[in-house]
Amino acid sequence: MSNEKKRVVILGSGFGGLETALHLRKYCGKNATIVVVDQHEFFTFIPSIYKVAAATEDEKNIVFPLESIFRKRGITFIKDIVEAIDCKKKTIKLAYHQLLPYDYLVVALGSATNYFGIPGAKEASLELKSIEDAIKIRETINDIVVDLTKPRPKPKIVNIIVMGGGLSGIETVCELQMYVQKLCNEYGLDKNLVILSIVERAPHVLNNFGEKVYMPAEKRLQQLGIQIVAGTAVTKVEKNLLVTTSKTIPFDILVWVGGIQPHEVTESTEGLTCGLKGINVNPQLQFFQDPNVFGVGDNIVCDGIVRTAQNAILEGKHVAKNICRMLAGKPLLEYKKKPMPLLIALGRGHGLFAHKGVVLKGRLMYMLKHLVEWHYVWSRNK
Ligand SMILES: Cc1cc2nc3c(=O)[nH]c(=O)nc-3n(C[C@H](O)[C@H](O)[C@H](O)COP(=O)(O)OP(=O)(O)OC[C@H]3O[C@@H](n4cnc5c(N)ncnc54)[C@H](O)[C@@H]3O)c2cc1C
Repeated sequence: MSNEKKRVVILGSGFGGLETALHLRKYCGKNATIVVVDQHEFFTFIPSIYKVAAATEDEKNIVFPLESIFRKRGITFIKDIVEAIDCKKKTIKLAYHQLLPYDYLVVALGSATNYFGIPGAKEASLELKSIEDAIKIRETINDIVVDLTKPRPKPKIVNIIVMGGGLSGIETVCELQMYVQKLCNEYGLDKNLVILSIVERAPHVLNNFGEKVYMPAEKRLQQLGIQIVAGTAVTKVEKNLLVTTSKTIPFDILVWVGGIQPHEVTESTEGLTCGLKGINVNPQLQFFQDPNVFGVGDNIVCDGIVRTAQNAILEGKHVAKNICRMLAGKPLLEYKKKPMPLLIALGRGHGLFAHKGVVLKGRLMYMLKHLVEWHYVWSRNK
């Protein structure tokens, strides 16, 4: 194998995996064989799936095919499910193809939904991690609102809860509120029949971003008529009932965007130190136990840095650079974590930008967010 080109295998083609593959080709030229494995034929722009759930975005606009993008650049794409990583034998077990050998490996499998071990949470809720999840949420909400139009002796109230007041929870609850109001309008229903709430364990939604961010965000949620249930830890989820430390909250639909945890494949890979939040990597983004294995995106632990698409992109670029340096026998570079600007949509026509103490809000910020998203999809789909 020593005279052959080294084979770099990238597991997962979300933000982290895609950027690693494209930059590896850019930085290394033809010096490496690049193979990407993903269970889906399409890249999904995950930060926009909440809009699919709220029927404000067509799913076709936020996905693009991977095969053609990779083929153009001489990168091999395998559509398959990664079942296991064997770091000792340097092979990947796939569900439908033969064992896949590698010289260097990049693990970019993303994360799984974290239910924090709360009994009943997984069974009773709808998660939001894929287009399929988003469509299921959209259809469930639509069905439940349509059901309200049936004649009944007493009007029925529908409670929709979004669990988790982080970035994705906030964007989701705002957009769903607008969807629900639109449906009520269309079906001639009283808007007060559907109540949307957001439940968060910390004292405020977006708590980690500080007062300058959570104050305007909470104000906006209140303007939209969304109930904020903050400082409330859920202990159990029963059928249609959220049990918290202080009260019980009934629900008809529970959307769980409460957090992330390591991907099941990385969690079960022998020899990887997998903490609560993901795989531990060194400052060069290599796995501690195996310098030939790198990690990017949601499946790694990068303390103090929120797991976002923006960070997955930067990590992917960095790992591509480091693998090229490794191939050239050069020392690897440390990844410099830096705080990224926060750009968040708070319902149609309203956005919030925060960076280094500067907070800007309003329609322009909403448009900027959409422009950034649109540009990414357009630039990668060229
Ligand atoms: C509702 C929501 C809103 C968000 N909003 C924002 C935002 O505004 N800004 C922002 O920066 N971030 C946002 N995020 C976070 C962002 O989407 C993630 O941080 C980002 O997608 C992580 O990229 P990744 O490459 O690590 O993982 P992913 O994008 O999840 O990609 C992982 C890839 O691995 C593949 N895969 C997984 N398991 C297997 C397997 N066993 N076999 C083969 N392939 C597999 C998947 O198909 C996928 O293509 C949001 C997330 C959500 C859920």
